[in-house]
Parts: sequence; C-alpha cells; structure tokens
Amino acid sequence: MTTQPIFLIGARGCGKTTVGQKLAEACQFAFIDTDLILQQRAKQTIADIVAKEGWPAFRALETRTLQSVAAPGSVIATGGGIILAPVNREFLRENGIVIYLKAPVSVLAGRLEAFPEASQRPTLTGKPISEEVREILIQRDALYRETAHHVVDAACEPDEVVAQILAAIGSVYAPARSVNSATAG
Ligand code: ADP
Ligand code: MG
Repeated sequence: MTTQPIFLIGARGCGKTTVGQKLAEACQFAFIDTDLILQQRAKQTIADIVAKEGWPAFRALETRTLQSVAAPGSVIATGGGIILAPVNREFLRENGIVIYLKAPVSVLAGRLEAFPEASQRPTLTGKPISEEVREILIQRDALYRETAHHVVDAACEPDEVVAQILAAIGSVYAPARSVNSATAG
C-alpha cells in the first residue's frame, strides 16, 4: 500500500476529521488536521484569526500549514476552503492522494446544525446554515472534484467511508480487495 500522504478535502461537516482519524488508524498512519495545527501554531482560534486579521491572512497561514505538514505515512484533514487557492490545489494533487468526501447539502446542514463548532468554523456568509452550505457547495464542488483523485460518498457511516477510501487507493485492507485476493489465490 502507498505511503504517500492521503489528503481529505470537502465542505465543513463532510467528515474529514471523523473519517480521517479512523482512516489513519486503519492505515497505521499519523493523523493531521491542518485547522488544528494552524490554531496551535497561531495560539488562537480560526474565528479569532479571521476576526483580527481577515480571511486572506488566514488563507496564507493555511497554505503554509498545508505545505509544512505533508509527509509520507499521514492522513491529512484539510480546511473546507483549502481548494480556493490554485497553489493549494496544485500542491495537493502533486504531493499525495486527494480524496473528496462528497455529501449532499441536506446531510452537511444536518450535521452542522447538530454540531455547530462555532469557535472553530466562523460563518462565511452570516446566513442560515442550509443556505450557506448550498451556496458554498455551488462555489466549491467543481474545485473539490477537479482537485480530487477519488470522490467518495460521505453521506454513509464513517466506517463505510473509510472502506470506500481504502478500496479507491487499492489498499490490502479494503474488504472488496481482500475477497478478490482470497478467491484469486
Ligand atoms: P469536517 O472535519 O469535515 O468539518 P467532522 O468530521 O468534524 O467534519 O464532522 C462534523 C460532524 O458530523 C461531527 O459531529 C461528526 O461526528 C459528524 N459526522 C462526520 N462524519 C459522519 C458520518 N459519516 N456519519 C455521521 N456523522 C458524521
Ligand atoms: Mg474538521
């Protein structure tokens, strides 16, 4: 199996952190969350950085963080807006395997309403969650798809999302592959 970094991309609430931790365990990879690392290094929350210095300053920190954490043997959960910068899209595609966790607006909005994580993820538009999620996806879905090497259905249970990713990257841990190799042998 690959030791290239595995980058998880997708909108807020698609499960990058949740699925990423499980995927890292399954691969015995390190788990890294760019939002967490960025906040630890800046010693403040994303909300504070955005409030004090604005989104462009946050985006610049995000690019630096991404480039500094990409290492073999790691699963890297990224911020939802990481794909906005062309330099990030190029870096992701060229330095690892990029997985888009794709989920419909209704699923994303439902998760964000249940777990708003307000301090970590400031509102982008000030609008109600489902409206904001729809607008953001309209802007970003094409960028997620063009950046990803593989797209998986992130609306199902986390274990199932992990299995889809393992199957996509051709891991021996993937259930479908295990069955094939067992019958082939
Ligand atoms: P992200 O890191 O992409 O913003 P999170 O992993 O933080 O997303 O997930 C947001 C919320 O949705 C969390 O409360 C998490 O428990 C829940 N969640 C994530 N993935 C799933 C899933 N596949 N099925 C059900 N709930 C999920
Ligand atoms: Mg997250």
